[in-house]
Amino acid sequence: MASSNASPLIVWFRNDLRIDDNPALLAAADTGRPLLPLYIREDADTRRLGGALKWWLHRSLTALAHDLRERGLKLHLLGGDAADTLAHVARSTGASGVHWNRRYSGDGIQRDTAVKTRLKAQGLEVESFNSHLLYEPWTLKTGSGGPYRVFTPFSRAARASGMPDKPKPAPRMMHGYEGPLDDLSLEAFDLLPTKPDWSGGLQKAWKPGTDGAQQKLDRFLAEALENYPDKRDRPGIIGTSRLSPYLRFGELSPRAIWHAAEVSSASRDAVFKFHQELLWREFSYHLLYHYPDLCEANHQPKFDAFPWRNHEGEEGAKLLRAWQKGSTGYPIVDAGMRELWHTGWMHNRVRMIVGSFLVKHLLIDWRQGEEWFWDTLVDADPANNAASWQWVAGSGADAAPYFRIFNPVLQGEKFDGDGSYTRQWVPEVTKLPKKFLHKPWEAPTSALSEAGITLGETYPRPIVDHREARERALDAFKSLSDAANAA
Ligand code: FAD
Repeated sequence: MASSNASPLIVWFRNDLRIDDNPALLAAADTGRPLLPLYIREDADTRRLGGALKWWLHRSLTALAHDLRERGLKLHLLGGDAADTLAHVARSTGASGVHWNRRYSGDGIQRDTAVKTRLKAQGLEVESFNSHLLYEPWTLKTGSGGPYRVFTPFSRAARASGMPDKPKPAPRMMHGYEGPLDDLSLEAFDLLPTKPDWSGGLQKAWKPGTDGAQQKLDRFLAEALENYPDKRDRPGIIGTSRLSPYLRFGELSPRAIWHAAEVSSASRDAVFKFHQELLWREFSYHLLYHYPDLCEANHQPKFDAFPWRNHEGEEGAKLLRAWQKGSTGYPIVDAGMRELWHTGWMHNRVRMIVGSFLVKHLLIDWRQGEEWFWDTLVDADPANNAASWQWVAGSGADAAPYFRIFNPVLQGEKFDGDGSYTRQWVPEVTKLPKKFLHKPWEAPTSALSEAGITLGETYPRPIVDHREARERALDAFKSLSDAANAA
């Protein structure tokens, strides 16, 4: 609805770096008033962005600025406290309101509430919208009115509550605020690595921004969705969408992805399975909203007594470093950790394998893994990362039972049977025959020497023995159950 009011409206972009299906932008454009798109690098971010996220954000803001510019709008960049910045921008431009899309972490909600109170007290209109989720966390409740803690009933309730809204196109008409505003250059955000610049692999692997997201989605729908149920666990092929970093920063909306799959020609089974994974993301946000300390605290408090090895001790630190660098001596684990380091992403099946290895084989606290992923993943997400690590550790809601301990050799043989993934990321073992690829220490000396491998020199020996590590993990878990029973 057009308004005669010519005062600008600020559209505060956060994790919604797109112009399609962006309800805050759409509602602002509908007023007919001049728009002032703004991104604030907030001082108060309690959790600093990891290196890979910062790299992505730089590229994603570049893409958003380009998309807005094509429609005649400038993306303004500022840094500081969000409430101060918004109040200052409103005062200096005459803006009379702010629109944004909601966030769901405890800290984000607290900050947004404070900003809202402050701006309203200054007489500004403030409106917030949902762009990030299919089902906002408070809209789904169990029979007794509480949050869900088990995925299957959550997903049933989500589906029963109706199909997610259809995505809406970008506003047809927008005009931008053209007055002065002292803002920053993107370089001033200092998001790119320089000394050293380790981003070469990320640059090769990704094209941040809505165009890149749409290309990934189109390719997935055309080439992989049909076989998603069978091939999504195979890291050596492109069997999944690789849309996670785009969802993280909101370059494509979950509604757009849901409906693109819905109307595709893929079988109902394939679409159902893919939708189910999108619902896992919703479940993570449901958990994060209802349990805001998901990143720090064991969801099941009995895990507070878990006898993690002291990862600050020299031995623990050495093991942690070997895991981070991809030199554990287990090729599938090393392949995953190196894929992560080079591309900022890792296949879901391999995330489960390396996660299980850290927590169960090395007995290192899941929070150490969560932190490493937070720093290195381009899709590091406050909800998905924490919920998934707790799932792997067994401490989470609806988690994998602690006593299910992945055997990295069998996992490698089952999910990377032809070895293509492992060979890509661990070139030292490329020449080993398939039979020994996932267990080089069992290869006869002749096979090792033909493959140019000297264990302990060109490729590490396993840093732990699987059988011993398994027993130790089961004992640790048992001590927890015994303590719980005795209490
Ligand atoms: P697809 O299979 O194409 O799935 C489509 C979308 O559904 C994904 O982009 C993602 O948004 C969602 N999804 C898929 N699987 C899961 C899942 N298991 N849990 C929640 N959502 C899911 N995902 C993140 O987005 N950020 C993280 O920081 C993150 N950390 C993880 C840490 C561990 C230890 C583990 C085991 C998993 C983690 N995941 C995380 C979940 C999952 O691995 C990724 O979402 C998935 O690999 C992304 O690849 P894709 O886009 O090709 O997924």
